[in-house]
Amino acid sequence: MTEVNQINHHLTDGLLMAYSAGTLPEGFGLVVATHVSMCDECRARAASFDALGGAVLETSAGPEAAMPAHSLTQTLERIRAGRPSAANEPRPATGGVFPAPLAAYVGGDLDRVKWRSYGIGLKQRILPVARGSSVRLLYIPAGMAVPDHGHRGTELTLVLQGAFRDETDRFGRGDIEVANEDLEHTPIAEEGAACICLAATDAPLRFTGLLPRLAQPFLRI
Ligand code: ZN
Ligand code: ZN
Repeated sequence: MTEVNQINHHLTDGLLMAYSAGTLPEGFGLVVATHVSMCDECRARAASFDALGGAVLETSAGPEAAMPAHSLTQTLERIRAGRPSAANEPRPATGGVFPAPLAAYVGGDLDRVKWRSYGIGLKQRILPVARGSSVRLLYIPAGMAVPDHGHRGTELTLVLQGAFRDETDRFGRGDIEVANEDLEHTPIAEEGAACICLAATDAPLRFTGLLPRLAQPFLRI
């Protein structure tokens, strides 16, 4: 059974190809796997990349693909070793806020999360992953803005509960925002339920204001 979602913001081909090849940093892989488990469209696209396998990877040499160059043999080995073939099956809904891949990672649902509070209502929990990326759960109270910031690398933000808006659009449950160096934004949680997101980055964010810059080492963001 798949969750019924109205998802409007999806993964890029480059991310899905790298996911298929098993070359994403662990934090990005978790966000991508969680979105794929919620999204029929991206699950179908991931399956088609799986099927194309090394042939696609060999010809996608552009930086968009975000993958190191491998020989076809190495690539196929990675695909075989990286993920079981059932990885793209629809995941059963857990009935909670966390889709199955994230629930498995956290060892439960929202009530298992040991949040760290930052006094202004904002909470986060950094999840343990291998070097190369950083991934965290964010709890943004309804109506609150995340400080205006830019990005040095790529930031993937997946909404798990509630919704946020920024300069580009609205993002609700299941939507994923892919932000890079070109985007500077101020995400604001919608009124209603608190916005809970899973966010991965491969480089520290660039905050515009002085106060968030001062807080940055404490937030490890
Ligand atoms: Zn999708
Ligand atoms: Zn951002």
